Amino acid sequence: MLVGVLALQGDFREHLFALAECGVEAIAVKSLEEINLIDALVLPGGESTTIAKLARTFGLFDRIQERIQSGLPTYGSCAGMILLADRITGAAVGQESFGGMDITVRRNAFGRQVDSFEADLNMTGITAPAIRAIFIRAPWVEMVGSGVEVLASVEIDGELHPVAVQQGNLLATSFHPEITGDNRVHRYFIETICKAAVA
Ligand code: GLN
Repeated sequence: MLVGVLALQGDFREHLFALAECGVEAIAVKSLEEINLIDALVLPGGESTTIAKLARTFGLFDRIQERIQSGLPTYGSCAGMILLADRITGAAVGQESFGGMDITVRRNAFGRQVDSFEADLNMTGITAPAIRAIFIRAPWVEMVGSGVEVLASVEIDGELHPVAVQQGNLLATSFHPEITGDNRVHRYFIETICKAAVA
């Protein structure tokens, strides 16, 4: 199995490192040839508008969208979650996403006070202890369709906001497991989601 990490902008190196630590073959993906080659895809954290624009500029956008829609197991963290969302609230004018997940995400959802923060999260599919989740100008999920499972949420002012969601082969987190050295989310993606897709 070959996992590609979209390497146009953002923290793709951290994802490549985390995947390598999980013992899976992973490559940085920047061309159509590479997109056609991979068995699974990771969309990194960064700036979702920039990543989408660069994907357009380099002629990759439609093919990535097509592959996700035809079942390519894909994991998106933070900006990657936004890129996987069918609908974006607080989007930049003309902002595009690859889509595939029946979710509405709110960009920069946590507001100024908690622009960036850390929290211990329990996540379905990940055995204890809790995950130390790092949020950096992160989105949250505002609405999920019926096929979407919420794996983890954060409580703000008494309200629960989903920050980890799965829909079939697609996984998205508002936070960045790739920068913590804890590879359990990557392992979950590889061992549970990708294996199920290959089987
Ligand atoms: N706020 C960024 C965006 O909208 C996401 C931030 C991140 O990936 N850490 O794309």
